[in-house]
Amino acid sequence: MRVAIAGFALESVSFLPVPTTLADFERRACYGEAVIAAHRGTNTAIGGFVKVCEAAGAEMVGIVSSDAGAAGSATDEAFRHYSDAICRGIAAENDRIDGILLFLHGAMTTPSRADPETEILAGLRAIMGPALPIMVALDYHGNLDAAILKYATAVFGYHYSPHTDMGETGERAARCLLATLRGEMRPVTAIAKPGVMVPSIFSATDLEPLAGLVRRSLALPREKPGLVDVSLFAGFSYADAPSCGFSVVAVADGDPALAARAAHTAIDEDCFTEFGMRAADFPIIVLRSKTHFRAVYEPLAAEILIVDTPDWGPADLTGLPYRHVPRERVFPFADPPQLL
Ligand SMILES: [Zn+2]
Repeated sequence: MRVAIAGFALESVSFLPVPTTLADFERRACYGEAVIAAHRGTNTAIGGFVKVCEAAGAEMVGIVSSDAGAAGSATDEAFRHYSDAICRGIAAENDRIDGILLFLHGAMTTPSRADPETEILAGLRAIMGPALPIMVALDYHGNLDAAILKYATAVFGYHYSPHTDMGETGERAARCLLATLRGEMRPVTAIAKPGVMVPSIFSATDLEPLAGLVRRSLALPREKPGLVDVSLFAGFSYADAPSCGFSVVAVADGDPALAARAAHTAIDEDCFTEFGMRAADFPIIVLRSKTHFRAVYEPLAAEILIVDTPDWGPADLTGLPYRHVPRERVFPFADPPQLL
């Protein structure tokens, strides 16, 4: 088996005026065999790809990788450079490649593109055809919608934030690819997207309600035969894109209905009542309102603190100039004001 490996990642804060340039990406870029060597033994998605492929004796072809962390939108020049490097590098291998392992963040934007990562996948599909397995590892803060699943065979997100399982996420994607190539699995995917935006400061998975949602999503593949994987994505609320927000992706073996049921089960209505609506259940509740909370919550609270959050102080996101997000469906923007 011969597997192409590539990565191109940025968590784009669309509202920052300083873009992430080609030079910024190039400082952390690897090309060719260096992609494999630089990530071998690291807790990164690509490190996970390498670990599983080497253990299985699969041949790896490093294409290109760069990860610019979290910063302003990528310039279109930087996007074109890496998109071309990925697509042309893989096209050059063409019929010698059995599958592709790709690491993307999921929340990249550029000045002219709200979903550049799906554009890369669409480009790969156009070149490589509909049959070639393409497995994608993504960050838990990725903004996904159904478009990415049109082109990726399956996607896998980090389970935890702060992120500790990047390598394991790459391993999940690589194991799925190798099982698919051996004919042991026929992955199908489904996405559930409830129209929820989670401010990044509330996306930690060791705090409720996300801790419970993650536990629930991890239990599903153990409970449901044929369900391969469930990834919960908090999304990234500061990337201005139509796909902005929370989603759940399920991967099943040959059963689209099972995948769809699993994706929706992970975030059913009961779960979302936990987004602050049963205050007495939580040791700490955080409210967006500065004016109304005391009367309602003082009887419940042992202590009330007024805090300034590190990434968006007033907890009033209406000040951000979103152009692409469908605001009418977005929580917590909707009136009346609610708990975060
Ligand atoms: Zn993240």
